[in-house]
Amino acid sequence: MQNLFVSRSDRHLIQREKPLLMADARQRAWIEVESSAIESNTHSLRNVIADSCLLMAVVKADGYGHGAETVARAAINGGADNLGVATLQEGIELRLAGLNCPILLLGNLIKPDELRACLHWRLMPTLSNIREALICQEIAESVGLQFNVHLKVDTGMTRLGCDLNLALALISQIDDLNNLVLKGVYSHLALADNESSTVTRQQQQKFEKLLTAMGERRKEVCCHLANSAGTLREASLHYDMVRVGLAIYGYTPIAHLKTNLGLKPALALKARVTFIRQVPKGVGVSYGHAFITQRPTRLAVVGIGYADGVNRALSGRISALINGYSLPQVGSITMDQLVLDATDCPELEVGSVVTLLGSDGDNSITPQHWSDLSGSIPWEVLCGFKNRLPRIVI
Ligand SMILES: *Cc1c(COP(=O)(O)O)cnc(C)c1O
Repeated sequence: MQNLFVSRSDRHLIQREKPLLMADARQRAWIEVESSAIESNTHSLRNVIADSCLLMAVVKADGYGHGAETVARAAINGGADNLGVATLQEGIELRLAGLNCPILLLGNLIKPDELRACLHWRLMPTLSNIREALICQEIAESVGLQFNVHLKVDTGMTRLGCDLNLALALISQIDDLNNLVLKGVYSHLALADNESSTVTRQQQQKFEKLLTAMGERRKEVCCHLANSAGTLREASLHYDMVRVGLAIYGYTPIAHLKTNLGLKPALALKARVTFIRQVPKGVGVSYGHAFITQRPTRLAVVGIGYADGVNRALSGRISALINGYSLPQVGSITMDQLVLDATDCPELEVGSVVTLLGSDGDNSITPQHWSDLSGSIPWEVLCGFKNRLPRIVI
């Protein structure tokens, strides 16, 4: 005889007085951010740079998907001196959150009112030409303030930054502008994560040529070149500051370079099983029937999809971890859901929580695994998580 009664625990929730105003953060899918991991990664990175070298934690793109404020605070606790963001809005939000350390905008601002906001919020803009410098000077002069800026010089990335042969002249022009304080001169490496060091070496030589040409001025300006890969690669790339993104989140950008830093991934992506069904052999699963069951199969539907940032190109290639099991994801990943083959995991039930990224016992899945499968890079995987996923700081 089938039991046709609502369970005791369901009844308890049915009888709850008030309807939910907001779904539980762990209702279907979420990101857990271990802020202590970010703190300890930052601390480990501090230990590979000289005491005199500053550490900038790069928290652009909402802290690589982890939550910018969470990451900024943890990184500062771990010994970061500066923060780096990409956009004006990202900088303003950190100030509104009460972060007081120097913040550099790594992107370019082109309008005077944006640069004025920079001064107001004490964000340091990245300048690449004299026009931007002159605008900053007028803004600062009109309110009688000093405006801290960094100059970006292109040594081979071929993106932002002035031409190398114009840099020296620009530096002295900026120095002649009374309300500008040239706090930093920097460049960006294009191939620091490459096995070959040829291009990195060329960029470094160009950068050093400029530093030498700056003479005495060089000693007063913070000169910086290295991203995570450059920082882990070698000390000669560190100069006065390193700008570290990926590594503070717990990942090495250079798989071939074995570092003993003990970096710890700070992020775990988890989702809940919402439905389980038993189907026979020969049944097509999900859009397009890209997967056909090869045996009687126990399928588990999980509440996460590409609208959360699980790239559809990963369909049929990833797995989910639970209690030592690794369950293959089958069929097309859809907007809000995906399906697992749970035949070999009888203990999986509706409400079980699976780990899509992160560790479960001895197993772990990293953004690098996903990016290898989808022709992407770990940075893009991390930045791809949408706001629909609650970030839970633990
Ligand atoms: C994003 C960024 C970084 C950090 O790069 P990682 O590879 O994540 O360490 C450093 N410098 C600049 C200019 C950047 O835009």
